[in-house]
Amino acid sequence: MATNAAFPPYESTDGNGNYSGIDVEIATKIAEKLGLKLVVDDMDFSSVITSVQGGKEDIAMAGLTVTDERKKNVDFTDSYATGVQSIIVKEDSDIKSADDLSKASAIGCQEGTTGYIYCSASEDDGGYGDKAIGYANGAQAVQALMQGKVDAVVIDNNPAKEYVKANEGLKILDTPYVQEDYAIGVNKKNPGLRDAVNKALNELISDGTVQQILDKYINTDADSEAVSSSSAQ
Ligand code: GLN
Repeated sequence: MATNAAFPPYESTDGNGNYSGIDVEIATKIAEKLGLKLVVDDMDFSSVITSVQGGKEDIAMAGLTVTDERKKNVDFTDSYATGVQSIIVKEDSDIKSADDLSKASAIGCQEGTTGYIYCSASEDDGGYGDKAIGYANGAQAVQALMQGKVDAVVIDNNPAKEYVKANEGLKILDTPYVQEDYAIGVNKKNPGLRDAVNKALNELISDGTVQQILDKYINTDADSEAVSSSSAQ
């Protein structure tokens, strides 16, 4: 499993090769069903898709949003969770809404993520161009915010909550951004594996296991509910 283990509550690491989080638990259950052992490979988020595409890992699970662009490079299973991009700012920030993001002189994102793609788009396309600064992971982007190097961080809602909990003086702004579907990326040359993983995933959705795992890591939150099984990507 290719992942970036700095994205709680989906994946994190204690630094000693132990991984935890929603994606890690779901992947463990899928591996069990397939009679396989889960091996987690931690890397920058921006390498997760290319690594699976190149056949180095079998699956990508990284709070990974399904996009048309990514579908060109990997196949996706059905979706098992959803997310929305959120904005993190300092409690006393002048940035009070998504519209105010244009006031920021720098916006921290994680390189290669949907948040980065939105923010680094040109102003004509609703983005902020060069003001979007890509960091290797969410922890580094939030560190830059704490140090005043960026005025806001754009990141998925559940990781945003974890970062705000872990760092004093930050808050989350609501955004009008659309809901994203998280799914598992599989090498396009391995449809057999995609189908096997998808079948196992759907069994875990139907029997409530996925919802139990989500509930364990996320406080009751309407936007993080597991989706029902059938929406093929
Ligand atoms: N959901 C976002 C994306 O897929 C962020 C994922 C992540 O940073 N791990 O781009």
